[in-house]
Amino acid sequence: MMNIMEVKFSAKSENESLARVIVASFAAKLDPTIDELSDIKTAVSEAVTNAIIHGYEEDETKFVHMRCELIENTIKVVVEDYGKGIEDIEEAKQPMFTSKPELERSGMGFSFMESFMDDMQVASIVGEGTKVIMTK
Ligand code: ATP
Ligand code: MG
Repeated sequence: MMNIMEVKFSAKSENESLARVIVASFAAKLDPTIDELSDIKTAVSEAVTNAIIHGYEEDETKFVHMRCELIENTIKVVVEDYGKGIEDIEEAKQPMFTSKPELERSGMGFSFMESFMDDMQVASIVGEGTKVIMTK
């Protein structure tokens, strides 16, 4: 089985829940358990929140792109922004590292994505944007 879906939406916080619902509905074909679905939704939510808050610094005129692929029994989710990018990816992935402590971020987003999905890769270029690729 193979199925692909792509969407883009404005970098507004209210679209985090939209992204979660879209992916959950698309993933339903895989007949996931409640726990698996909840893991996927949490990971998507973290990646989309990062694109909006860090990548675009909540510039609502910009777009977050999301692509999902179902291949056999796995789901691949790609969340991409064309925002400010990450200087040091290894540092950014450290548990509790955040560049926005003033916003009461806990710096756990990447750690959640890594633990809730089977694989998570980050590609980023400063000034060009960030792409997070997750599979489960
Ligand atoms: P939390 O996710 O717990 O609210 P956080 O977003 O700061 O806090 P992570 O999601 O782990 O923590 O991200 C770590 C850091 O990586 C961020 O503080 C930010 O500096 C950087 N980062 C993450 N995603 C992006 C992105 N899409 N564009 C630019 N920088 C990013
Ligand atoms: Mg985060």
